[in-house]
Amino acid sequence: MFIKTNYHTHCTFCDGKNTAEEMAQRGAELGLGVLGFSSHTAWPFGTKWHLQPRQYDMYLAEIKRLKELYKGKMEILAGFEAEYIRGFALPEKSVYREFKPDYLIGSVHYIFSENLKGAEVPPYFTVDGSTEELLGGIKSHFGGDAKKAVQTYFAFERDMVQSCDFDIIGHADLIRKRNGELRFFDENDEWYRRELQETAKAIGKSGKVAEINTGGMSRAGLPSPYPSPYFLSLLKKYDVPLTLNSDSHEVRTLTDFFDAGIKAARDAGYDELWYLSAGSWKSQKIPL
Ligand SMILES: [Zn+2]
Ligand SMILES: [Zn+2]
Repeated sequence: MFIKTNYHTHCTFCDGKNTAEEMAQRGAELGLGVLGFSSHTAWPFGTKWHLQPRQYDMYLAEIKRLKELYKGKMEILAGFEAEYIRGFALPEKSVYREFKPDYLIGSVHYIFSENLKGAEVPPYFTVDGSTEELLGGIKSHFGGDAKKAVQTYFAFERDMVQSCDFDIIGHADLIRKRNGELRFFDENDEWYRRELQETAKAIGKSGKVAEINTGGMSRAGLPSPYPSPYFLSLLKKYDVPLTLNSDSHEVRTLTDFFDAGIKAARDAGYDELWYLSAGSWKSQKIPL
């Protein structure tokens, strides 16, 4: 029997809409075998959508309580979706050691620049926010050159997977999030495909697990999960293990578009998915 799992789950400890308890209850209703919580973190910092530094203990205690509550029915894990912002916060197990998380997801949400002229420009912008913020960031950081912004994003991805010690690579082409509306780059361009090829190769060498993330389909109306079909076929070429995650922020979307995620894996040539249980990664055949 196929064990349904999800390791990318937000709740009210960060920017989610439902409590951890509500998410767990929904996970059990949906028949999940493993539910992992992954609050946004940027230890030792935190913006309004991160777990606040003073709340780590409370978060871990609550997940531990739920672990006990669901024992024998559904395995519950305590993870973090940890930011990559070089110089400030890294998805690095040694950084989070004192919290003993069950796993870390490493994610690039921010593009930052150390060499900005003009102090009135914020040093960071997120590629996960509004279209205005994205366009504003490309304008102020890259003089409007979207190609440079996209290349910087993938350079960060590669640096993260090569240099940091974590478990799951979060939404590896999140930069696509607003491309459906904005068309600020062409995913078929040769330079873009080269970025994906280089990134897939780096991911393959790292030995890390990549996620199929259906959150862009449920939250941004994307026609396919992250990574894109072409990116997934490259990951297959480098034998990158995949796990399926919803990146859900509310009970309504806890396993949203999982069928599409499974189909995307199959279309890319995968016949198995990986899941983390009882402290180790295991594979299982994709259901037909
Ligand atoms: Zn994320
Ligand atoms: Zn997330």
